[in-house]
Amino acid sequence: MDNIPYKKIVEIINEGLYIINKDRVVTYWNKAAERISGFAADEVVGRSCADDILKHVDDEGTNLCCGFCPLAETITDGESRESRVYLHHKNGQRIPVAIRASRLSDEEGRILGGVELFTDLSNIEANELRVKELEKLALLDNLTQMANRHYLESELEGRCQEKRRNNVMFGILFMDIDHFKPFNDTYGHDVGDMVLKFVSKTMIANARPFDLYGRWGGEEFVAIIRNVSAGGLEDLGNRMRLLVENSYLKHAQQKLSVTISVGATLAREHDTPASLIKRADNLLYQSKAAGRNCVTAG
Ligand code: GH3
Ligand code: MG
Ligand code: MG
Repeated sequence: MDNIPYKKIVEIINEGLYIINKDRVVTYWNKAAERISGFAADEVVGRSCADDILKHVDDEGTNLCCGFCPLAETITDGESRESRVYLHHKNGQRIPVAIRASRLSDEEGRILGGVELFTDLSNIEANELRVKELEKLALLDNLTQMANRHYLESELEGRCQEKRRNNVMFGILFMDIDHFKPFNDTYGHDVGDMVLKFVSKTMIANARPFDLYGRWGGEEFVAIIRNVSAGGLEDLGNRMRLLVENSYLKHAQQKLSVTISVGATLAREHDTPASLIKRADNLLYQSKAAGRNCVTAG
């Protein structure tokens, strides 16, 4: 046990920890205390904790450093204390912390001072999650949980720039469900929504890791396919077309399925997202004219 580097452990724990002597002068301030409070050790060590550095306040806003300081009380009566207070961050904000105060004595029982441990109770994780949720809301299509048009457009912009700078090849597939209006009219909008969901799941499940499939709008989907040849792109389009044709939904004893028509094109030297989409859309239109459920590459 004697070999255990306690000082090191105290230094690296996730909780703030500081020690004060009998005169309430701070003698030790660990790394987590620096992180949580914003005060570096050399700004705090050597100063009295009643100096108003941390200015602990309680729920009522009462300044505990001038009155009932849990750590000072603990040093006086030897009772360990736990409470929730708000400490002052160097940048001004109030940080909720759970504190535990204990008296420190030497082996003869002489009082040396006190130690306070404090745990940051700020809602950091919840906030990070919320940001992620917001990102999702802004970039994901609600119905299908695929990339939305906004996301696709910014990716297209990025890929066009990458192509101009480093000549990284990419292509797009523009895909549109065939005769979807009559499908909706026959089976209803809710069943139509279920179809949009399974079509998008088929696409996502069968995408290569670096490719991005998203919903362009309505019953239209766009895939951005990286590092691909013209033949490879057409093959991918046909594979997806066959996979969609062979996906189905069981509804009232029937197997409901749809087909897609596809336009496939590689990015060219002066392409912008808009010129690329326009060309793919024209190719898609040719697939429709040719009878649907097919791929036109160009
Ligand atoms: P085509 O083969 O020429 O593409 O025929 P189409 O009927 O699919 O084409 P059109 O563009 O006329 O109709 C698209 C239909 O897609 C209209 C609408 O009923 C349906 N649709 C668009 N968005 C949604 C949606 O979010 N949910 C459902 N259920 N249907 C949608
Ligand atoms: Mg359409
Ligand atoms: Mg359609």
